[in-house]
Amino acid sequence: MPELPVHPASAIADDAAAADPTRLRVSEVFASVQGEGKLTGVPSVFVRLSGCNLRCRWCDTPYASWNPDGPTLTVDQLLAQITQLAGPSIRHAVLTGGEPMLFPALGPLAEALAARGFHITIETAGTVANPRALAVCNLLSLSPKLADSTPVADPRDPSGAWAVRHEARRLNLPVLADLISSIHSHPANADLQLKFVVNPASLPSDEREILDLLSALAQAGSPIAPADVLAMPEGVAEPGPQARQAVLDLVLRHGWRYCTRLHIHLFGNTRGT
Ligand code: SF4
Repeated sequence: MPELPVHPASAIADDAAAADPTRLRVSEVFASVQGEGKLTGVPSVFVRLSGCNLRCRWCDTPYASWNPDGPTLTVDQLLAQITQLAGPSIRHAVLTGGEPMLFPALGPLAEALAARGFHITIETAGTVANPRALAVCNLLSLSPKLADSTPVADPRDPSGAWAVRHEARRLNLPVLADLISSIHSHPANADLQLKFVVNPASLPSDEREILDLLSALAQAGSPIAPADVLAMPEGVAEPGPQARQAVLDLVLRHGWRYCTRLHIHLFGNTRGT
């Protein structure tokens, strides 16, 4: 099995989008239905924090990573927007990014949402932890990035510095194992899903890498049940029949789940959906 790269959390702090523990940079806040994973179709308010420690080649939210945008808001300002969008009916909040775990203020925001009775999903690449937010999380959606995500020779990264940084950071086994074991021993019986974006053109290397990672996690004491492993075809459009079949075959081989993108099916690649 290949050795997995490990780096300390301090190596991530250089580009943490916000060090301020009371504010968060917010790319967008909107109400829609969850498009991916175990809660697909559930009405939710999405909070997309702006800033990421990775630069995936195929990132579908570059406005929260490659070119982070949006105002910096206090937790109270953000809460007001969320509760207004949620109205009386929506009880699910999805904290996503970018990389939401980078923000110290994610903890106070998640705690305030939990106190208001929201079910909280945190969507993260799993390279950095945020214990306060994790303590009140109901569904941890981990999306470790495979080698195919590294932006090699990407015109947005002319010096290649991001490709090196991304490759060094994309898998942090100790952090990932800690996040998973926190959910396994979570006092509120939180759930988790491990969601992989797979490139049908680069199977079987993606498949090998997922299996290596699952094996490393099991050895680290954080095994993942096959039903908690999701595979989703890469792309910001509906996958073609061949790509669909390749990912379908992959999940059938291992007892994983096929992950669709309902929002793409409903709205196309449209921001705020
Ligand atoms: S981790 Fe997520 S937000 Fe960050 S670059 Fe990758 S896909 Fe984009």
